Amino acid sequence: MKDWGYKFSMFNSEHRRELIESVDETRLTNTLIEMISIKSENPFKGDPRPGFREKEMGEYYLEHMHQLGMDVSQREVVPGRPNVFGKLKGNGKGNVLMLSGHLDTVPTEGYESAYDVKVADGKVYGRGACDMKAGLAAYLEAVRIVRDAGIKLQGDLILCGVVDEEYLMIGSKEIGANGPQADQGIIGEPSELTICPANKGQLSTFIRTYGRAVHSSIPEQGVNAIKHMARVIDAFEDYNEELARRDPHPLCGHARFSPGVIRGGELVTAVPDYCELEVDRRTLPGETNVQVFDEYRRRLNLIAQRDPTFRYEITNPSWDIPPNDISIDEPVVQSLLRNHQILTGITSTPVAFPGGTDAPNMGFPNVVCGPGSIAQAHTTNEYVEVDQIVLAARMYLAVILDLLEVRR
Ligand SMILES: [Zn+2]
Repeated sequence: MKDWGYKFSMFNSEHRRELIESVDETRLTNTLIEMISIKSENPFKGDPRPGFREKEMGEYYLEHMHQLGMDVSQREVVPGRPNVFGKLKGNGKGNVLMLSGHLDTVPTEGYESAYDVKVADGKVYGRGACDMKAGLAAYLEAVRIVRDAGIKLQGDLILCGVVDEEYLMIGSKEIGANGPQADQGIIGEPSELTICPANKGQLSTFIRTYGRAVHSSIPEQGVNAIKHMARVIDAFEDYNEELARRDPHPLCGHARFSPGVIRGGELVTAVPDYCELEVDRRTLPGETNVQVFDEYRRRLNLIAQRDPTFRYEITNPSWDIPPNDISIDEPVVQSLLRNHQILTGITSTPVAFPGGTDAPNMGFPNVVCGPGSIAQAHTTNEYVEVDQIVLAARMYLAVILDLLEVRR
């Protein structure tokens, strides 16, 4: 870990109190409403096109970063889908902090009011509200206050809007490969502003069994791939118990396994020669794909040893999101914990984020901490509480001051 040479600023200094209190709820809410109104649904397997790509949302973000005096740039990850960046330059004597978030949202099938953006009961409603345009709006507000107050920074502050988090994460992978890099980062995914230095990964794959097709009137002459798959499912019956007996990760707990999708057979009058089962494995920091596949093979090979007609295959991953795990001693984690406590009066302890994020792809330590709850993300009633956005902007601002402000 790099030496940041920083001390936490005195929160009770008048200077700092004024800055924190200048976070403007109306401005934040209005910015968020504008962002939600820009459709940026992930195109998934389809072609990127207006409404189903991040480009227009990225242009909005670029324009606002530019208005805040940031040096802005963009880089296409694939045609029509650029990551966008804004930088406030420091004096070159400090480390670099990046605040990043994804520009895309999940789709809106069955969500009729997805873009009837509204504020009611202290909440902002609409697709992308908590996942995660609120985080992006809070970053802009924090930068605006830094700029308006003429705060001098030692290290650079980078804002970053990333494409494709909701599908293959090509945006964050591109940043991991080609930069820009920072010393530390925050990803404002909806964690209700709990501080999440770790999360499990997701490794999904297909297990396939092969048989021999014959007419169903003579099943004894064939090999039934579905019956073989039943033995596969059986072979994993005690797997979660085995995973639970291993040492837990301090924040993530135990790994998990779940069979999710099964397909096999074409006709009821034929013995099926093919069956596939898509299985989901939540991995712990430190576990590798190779280890997990070895665990699968050990169980499946036991069946094959007893039955020479049992043939199987494990495919390449259908989902492969690595786990994240950074030290709670990282300055960005410590600063968030401390400022959360100061601003809310509630003692905050680090927890694991429940889902996968861009964090492990970025190439430097990133902590997940953002406004809103994962309980509303991806639902047909997405919202974020206004209080959460305001608190987020205050926390991000406090971290910027802690880690980047030139000491006076
Ligand atoms: Zn998200």
